[in-house]
Amino acid sequence: MVVIMRKDATARQVANLVSTVEGWGCSVHLVDQGEQYKVGVIGKEHPDIAARLTSLDGVDAALPGNHPFSLASREMQVRDTCIPLNGTAIGGDCLTVIAGPCSVESRSQMLEIAHAVAEAGATALRGGAFKPRTSPYSFQGLAEPGLELLAEAREATGLPVITEAMSADQVRLVANYADVVQIGTRNMQNFQLLHAAGEIGLPVLLKRGLMSTIDEWLLAAEYILSHQNWQVILCERGIRTFEPSTRNTTDINAVPVVKRLSHLPLIVDPSHSTGDWHYVSAVALAAVAAGADGVMVEVHTHPDQARSDGGQSLKPERFAELVRQLHQVAEAVGGRVPQSHAS
Ligand code: PEP
Ligand code: MN
Repeated sequence: MVVIMRKDATARQVANLVSTVEGWGCSVHLVDQGEQYKVGVIGKEHPDIAARLTSLDGVDAALPGNHPFSLASREMQVRDTCIPLNGTAIGGDCLTVIAGPCSVESRSQMLEIAHAVAEAGATALRGGAFKPRTSPYSFQGLAEPGLELLAEAREATGLPVITEAMSADQVRLVANYADVVQIGTRNMQNFQLLHAAGEIGLPVLLKRGLMSTIDEWLLAAEYILSHQNWQVILCERGIRTFEPSTRNTTDINAVPVVKRLSHLPLIVDPSHSTGDWHYVSAVALAAVAAGADGVMVEVHTHPDQARSDGGQSLKPERFAELVRQLHQVAEAVGGRVPQSHAS
């Protein structure tokens, strides 16, 4: 439920609404939208809550939502959230193309790939320094030296950097180097991490849990938003199904569903959802055709030598071709404009 206060509502009327709702055992999130307050009401609701709320002084409307999240909902904000990022933006009418290797492996590897994706038209650079690996014997990432290489690649190309923090106590370190903090699929319900990401004040890219419903995903976003950090980017990266021919199944349905439910920007990661470079471009194009705000794609100059996810990484030439096709699809579906980047 989202309560919209009248534009001339007084501070006393707002405070009265908050204490009344809290008295019903609900939690309240007060959002100052400049000229007007909106109040997210979450918790066990009275059957006649809308009527009770609209009878309070200063209340303009009470919008019932049929979902458990509030701050992430369209009722809270009708217009799309647009997150500024180093001279470009994610969301709104922008087309975002995040690209880079799965893992930061070395200085030469990172710089070579960073230059290649920048030249091909990427709008942001990715690369993992802390890697969540299924096996403890697999490469776990370079940690802080990897973050330093990402920062150097940003200096060299002008591309903003997105990289993962795997635990709450890594968030501050990652934020010292990155422009966007990524929360990976396995950590979507690591609530301490979500709180820490909410508090850091940087944009957060929140991947969908590989076994999570859309409601659970938007509730995870709600944790970050509840710290008044509105800079959340959702990332569909495939869910686990019975189909073994791809690593996971890209939930393309989630694109229009999330766009209808939420104002947050949404991108799709076809590299992790398919697990196979042969399918990455087709699914990336489908994502933008379905209304996604962009894609995140793994790119490697020598996929056969990659320390992780080489089999799903595009070579730079194929990636450049994909960027051209993404621009065409975005134009064809009448919307998002490619971002140019100062490099
Ligand atoms: C990644 O993007 O590097 C990654 C590990 O992805 P996911 O969390 O979706 O598996
Ligand atoms: Mn990967």
